[in-house]
Amino acid sequence: MFNNKELFKVSFQEQLISRLGKSMDEATAGDIYKILGSLIRENIGRDWAESNRISNIQKEKQVYYFSMEFLIGRLLGNNLLNLGMLNTVREGLAELGWDLDEVEAQEPDAGLGNGGLGRLAACFLDSLASLQYAGHGCGIRYKYGLFEQKIVDGHQVELPDDWLQRGNVWEERRADKKVEVSFWGRVEVEEQDGKTVFTTVNDEKVWAVPYDVPVIGYGDGRVNTLRLWSAESAVDPVKMVQDGQNSYYQFLEYSRSVESISEFLYPDDSGYEGKLLRLKQQYFLCSAGLQSLLRTFEKLELPYSELPEKVSVHINDTHPTLLIPELMRILMDHKGYGWEEAWDITTRTVSYTNHTLLSEALEKWPEGMVRELLPRVYMIIEEINKRFCGSLLEDGISQEVVSQVAILESGQVKMAHLAIVGSYSVNGVAGLHTELLKSDVMKPFYELYPERFNNKTNGITHRRWLMHANPELSSLISESIGTSWITSPHKLLGLETFKDDAVFQQKIMDIKRNNKLRLAEYVHQKQGIAVDPDSIFDVQVKRLHGYKRQLMNILHVMHLYNEIKDNPNVERVPRTFIFGAKAAPGYYLAKSIIKLINVVADVVNKDPQASQQLKVLFLENYSVSLAEKIIPAANVSEQISTAGKEASGTGNMKFMMNGALTIGTLDGANVEMFDMLGNDNMFLFGLRSEEVLDYYRYGGYLSRDMYSQHEEIRRVLDQLISEGPFCCHEREFGLIRQSLLDHNDEFFVLRDFMDYAAKQKVIEQAYINSQAWASKSIVNIAHSGHFSSDCTINRYASEIWDVAPVKVEIY
Ligand SMILES: *Cc1c(COP(=O)(O)O)cnc(C)c1O
Repeated sequence: MFNNKELFKVSFQEQLISRLGKSMDEATAGDIYKILGSLIRENIGRDWAESNRISNIQKEKQVYYFSMEFLIGRLLGNNLLNLGMLNTVREGLAELGWDLDEVEAQEPDAGLGNGGLGRLAACFLDSLASLQYAGHGCGIRYKYGLFEQKIVDGHQVELPDDWLQRGNVWEERRADKKVEVSFWGRVEVEEQDGKTVFTTVNDEKVWAVPYDVPVIGYGDGRVNTLRLWSAESAVDPVKMVQDGQNSYYQFLEYSRSVESISEFLYPDDSGYEGKLLRLKQQYFLCSAGLQSLLRTFEKLELPYSELPEKVSVHINDTHPTLLIPELMRILMDHKGYGWEEAWDITTRTVSYTNHTLLSEALEKWPEGMVRELLPRVYMIIEEINKRFCGSLLEDGISQEVVSQVAILESGQVKMAHLAIVGSYSVNGVAGLHTELLKSDVMKPFYELYPERFNNKTNGITHRRWLMHANPELSSLISESIGTSWITSPHKLLGLETFKDDAVFQQKIMDIKRNNKLRLAEYVHQKQGIAVDPDSIFDVQVKRLHGYKRQLMNILHVMHLYNEIKDNPNVERVPRTFIFGAKAAPGYYLAKSIIKLINVVADVVNKDPQASQQLKVLFLENYSVSLAEKIIPAANVSEQISTAGKEASGTGNMKFMMNGALTIGTLDGANVEMFDMLGNDNMFLFGLRSEEVLDYYRYGGYLSRDMYSQHEEIRRVLDQLISEGPFCCHEREFGLIRQSLLDHNDEFFVLRDFMDYAAKQKVIEQAYINSQAWASKSIVNIAHSGHFSSDCTINRYASEIWDVAPVKVEIY
């Protein structure tokens, strides 16, 4: 129906009448969106069921990707794209008087994640389905996703993201598949027929109810499932209320506390929150997800010893690590397995991705909290720790090393240690990150289990980030090298032969300019600021964090402003600096940096002279759908983290794929980009990770020296607190200045500043030669196929999960 425009138009109008009782001219954009969504759901129903059925019949191994975050964004456009219906629907709707872009904008972003980690999970789901793997997502259906950011008087204000308010056309509630999850209580130990039996009594039970979202693969891809769990009260209110006085209020209280489990996403990126509710969320996901996948496994009627052959359970960072003791608990307490066998099954089933080297992000839960909330699980963790440490001591490993690697230490449960000990694979997310894991943060574990460690460099789905976000560029690519790159993204390499082709270069430049015009239009509509589409669009969009160094970027903008004011008659290439970033609500310094960016923007944009050559924009509420607007319009991609701090980055890959040139440090996946691109096609600067590590280890860096040695640095730092153009926010900006001078500049902003400023000058010169710039841009696009998550997922599949694609034939 969706392949035939006329048929589409007819069924669309029929649906509109039968579902909403409206004719075309009465329908709102919201109605059009809803009807399209339900048409798609109907259309894929059979494929979805068939994908599930085939999996069951063929008994193929299933992958379950557990993640506390899935930063999905909007689905309508991508689903139409993957179903091959995008053009039919766009044209059909146009003939009915509707613009598909406007309809797509009706969909709220599913913002069930903070940043890179959650977006990776979403890209992986798209690749799993498109490559025909039986791989499913397992997450939480947060009632409120990541907060909506408003900028009020230059400050970030957080508003609740009530994304489900108008319903969710993609989800299917499956009340029949609900499972029980238990918290609190006390463990009773009894001997029965010579066996020790553990029973938890007086526990509090909640229902976990799944909401399934179809994950539609590209072309003949599969329809996999993203199962999101919602917490509901498991107590019969009638019974509870009959039980005595006051229990009506008790019921309300209980009910509220249950619903709070899936109420909201913690808004911290790269930070650890030791909150009880967060621990509850983690266990809720692990227990519900495991029970559900084990129920599917049991339909195969195989012994549990075959679980590792039929199921791979992957954990995205340590957040779902409680899976390990939970699987042990189920196998021992409910399936009758002994410790040894249960441990063997568990450690052959679970694999783990590490996402960070930042010590503040490593999860450690207070032992007492885990013991009280999850008494039986805690006992199992204790036993895992006891056996692990005991076997090390037996092998002659020193007490010192043993306490370094222990799971329970100083009253804390170390989740990364539990994840490594309880899984068969530990991977980092970029070459450099994995090497640093092995040589530094997880060194003693690497020495114990070298075979477990491996690298899987992150990736991004080129379907969303190129085909959907940049349709003009996608069409040009297909006209030039054919369409095989869509299913084999490596073939983008074929573009390299066009890098010196003047006609092709011009087309690349025209497309970029169109994308810039579209973004300029959006900015004008939102903020009333006119930006020059011929200026360099220099973009830094990502979570706001000290190590990502948005501060260095904005200090450099202040420096450029000073230069312009000092020498107004020097010719310069106009630049538009674009920022987008959410800060964790409790991260005071990060919020001050947002304020600083907005203050600088205000000063620069209102200066009649400087604003000719310089503009600064802060686009509020950075999200997946905003990223899809901004990234295709970028000329310069800012990837300027302190070397050794950004595990991989994926924003860097999206920009590269859309033809932006990167100014960056040798950090995360930038290293791999540089290996492919070289100095001709990328702008490198700053300390290397070894140098940063040496400074941390041996000292030798004094940020005050930078201040006294460089007039440019002194000037901008003093402008933070003194009378002058950026006056007067002394208290707030004084803290920023203190972090750089009094606290010795933890992220080496001042150390790298001069090198960064010099590289920015090189960029300006390079941009003047537009053909040479276009040529570099083409080389970037050509090599970006390497970063498609299709490649990444193929490596996870063959090197970690040992799964192969399973074709689904629909009759
Ligand atoms: C890709 C993406 C990120 C991650 O960006 P990095 O630059 O790798 O930190 C964060 N948020 C959104 C909305 C994204 O799309």
